[in-house]
Amino acid sequence: MRFTFVTLFPKLIQEYFSDSILGRAVNEGKIRIDYRNPRDYTKDRHNRVDAPMIGGGAGMLMTPQPLMDMLRNLKETSPKAHIVFLTPVAKRFTQNDAKRLSNMEHVVLVSGRYEGIDERVIEANADEVFSIGDYILTGGELASMVLCDAISRNVEGVLGNANSLEVESFESPLLEAPSFTKPNIYEDNAVISEFLKGNHSKVTDLKRGLALCKTKYFRPDLYKKGITDEK
Ligand code: SAM
Repeated sequence: MRFTFVTLFPKLIQEYFSDSILGRAVNEGKIRIDYRNPRDYTKDRHNRVDAPMIGGGAGMLMTPQPLMDMLRNLKETSPKAHIVFLTPVAKRFTQNDAKRLSNMEHVVLVSGRYEGIDERVIEANADEVFSIGDYILTGGELASMVLCDAISRNVEGVLGNANSLEVESFESPLLEAPSFTKPNIYEDNAVISEFLKGNHSKVTDLKRGLALCKTKYFRPDLYKKGITDEK
């Protein structure tokens, strides 16, 4: 699967995808990542990619020409490219979106900067728009990395053990149960003794009970949905 990050600041992203699980996925060719910088496409004689807002308002906006030319070129060379804009003014990205997008051949993640992007660029090019939460970031790079990471985990072969996807939070309406590792006792805190006895069906029941408690406490919305879905 291919990802293209459209960003004025590719360096902010590059290091994240050069290490650990996702770095290995890149090296093994499970995912491919490239970058397009709108500044490389600007026709402005001072190399500018931003301008004041028409109609007033504080701050600058990314101008249409560099992004439009770049995206036109990208779509010509990759007709199946699925173009996603990151913006706080959009529906929230979820695990279901991550799974669905992992079936795409090529996802393009467009990051805004300044006060955002001229709306005409989004109207003309967006296959989808996503927010990662109800807060304002300085730029779309973090948000686009969040999407790329969450989508990549669902691409076949990226995770060493595909089973780990199945038990993760958001795969069912329940959050994942608390987990423990060695040592069995750490600074007077023992892991739940039932976990040590090797009775897998009992551990499964116990984990489900703990997952229910955790979900009810932290995410009552998911808990309510889970209970309704089971009826
Ligand atoms: N003026 C915009 C507004 O109030 O909606 C905010 C612009 S923000 C400072 C600059 C860029 O950061 C946006 O164009 C977008 O790409 C990105 N961004 C900021 N918050 C985001 C969020 N919660 N989700 C996704 N992208 C976000």
